[in-house]
Amino acid sequence: MNNELQHIYELGEGLETLDRIKARIDGLNLRYFIETYGCQMNEHDSEKIAGMLVRAGYTKAETKQDADLILFNTCCVREHAEKRTFGNVGFIKELKQINPRLILGVCGCMMQQREVANRLFARFPFVDLIFGTHELKNFPAMLENCLDKKRVFNVSDSDGEVIEGLPVERNAGFSTFVNIMYGCNNFCTYCIVPYVRGRERSRKPEDILNEVRSVVAGGYSEVTLLGQNVNSYSCDGMDFPRLLTLISNEVPELKRLRFMTSHPKDLSPELIMAMAQLDNVCKHIHLPVQSGSDSILKKMNRRYTTADYLKIVDELRQNVPFVEITTDIIVGFPGETEEDFQATLDLVKKVGYSNAYTFAYSPREGTVAARMEDQIPDEEKKRRLNKLNAVLAETIPENNEKYIGYSGEILVEGVDHRGEPLLFGKLSNFKMVYVEGDESLVGSFVDIKVDGFRFNSLFGHIAN
Ligand code: SF4
Repeated sequence: MNNELQHIYELGEGLETLDRIKARIDGLNLRYFIETYGCQMNEHDSEKIAGMLVRAGYTKAETKQDADLILFNTCCVREHAEKRTFGNVGFIKELKQINPRLILGVCGCMMQQREVANRLFARFPFVDLIFGTHELKNFPAMLENCLDKKRVFNVSDSDGEVIEGLPVERNAGFSTFVNIMYGCNNFCTYCIVPYVRGRERSRKPEDILNEVRSVVAGGYSEVTLLGQNVNSYSCDGMDFPRLLTLISNEVPELKRLRFMTSHPKDLSPELIMAMAQLDNVCKHIHLPVQSGSDSILKKMNRRYTTADYLKIVDELRQNVPFVEITTDIIVGFPGETEEDFQATLDLVKKVGYSNAYTFAYSPREGTVAARMEDQIPDEEKKRRLNKLNAVLAETIPENNEKYIGYSGEILVEGVDHRGEPLLFGKLSNFKMVYVEGDESLVGSFVDIKVDGFRFNSLFGHIAN
């Protein structure tokens, strides 16, 4: 990536606008509610929007009914997303009649699809604000316009910029996200993301480092570095393994450093070495395989073969003890034969995943695969998905047997009250462990020993 082409946008003027709004709404006790759909990238965008709203003097509402600003941060990756979003927006009409000062906004990936944004704008005249993923930096000005009772529609075709200086209102807890890059250059033929998130833009290492330092100083013990494909991070001569090393060395008080997502074609031996050698880098990798058939991988434009993928898995297992691998798999991609599907089942058995997100292929308007002939009938896709999930239901527990007697450390995330109350938390390698213990341990690191397992979770006790 040519960094000279990279445009870094500092929010300076936007912050002044937020401060002006704060003075303007002082004493009105205005509250916001953000409903987020989709991936961690969207969740983190919502934290940034919340950060701007807090800076502008808003406080968080517990329900939509209590809010003076409701924002739907949409996703277009999942099936039936548009129908669901339009349904959710329709319900807000009533709330607008009860609270005339209520501002209703819709943003996120779905609004980056101009035709969908146009449809929503035309169909729901009571929606005040529509903006795409590249317009976060203009949120302060858009908010000011909405407060002036103007209707705002802001969807641009640019790739967006790297925006620095955004206030972030992070979700409470012990674990948080830090973006290292935005966008994707890969154009997998089934995927809409490159069209709605633009081309790859990497943040500067010092900006990432400063943000990690600040969240650790704020009490977070676990940071997940986010990018559509972190393995293609590139800025100021730094690649992803070097970035991990930099953060790990410069912020040693950070207990756990995670990252996602990794495209197999860009996963380097240096990354495997960084995972092996850096203590606070977690021993888990989310490595989407998508298919176990080379011909389908080619049609998906994934640019690796199953042999390449299995080689990475072998190297990870050889170098990183107790490394766990999770994945995404699509069945019923156009042209997938029974033989292709069996190859996916074979690969799943060979790898021994810790967990997997499985999907029946469904076309996304505007992508190459949506125009492919030989689409697979829904019934057949459903059959293959059920079969794949049945195979995973066998292989995932098999993978857990090695943990009996295992000693490790979990970060306690909470208490599960579904039966007898149990603390739950993850090992560095993302395996969930349940133990008996006192609620006061939530948020701390606890040594445990594993006694048993159930599907993809482990059960144990606190080690003395
Ligand atoms: S790597 Fe492929 S699947 Fe992932 S975001 Fe980019 S285009 Fe989509």
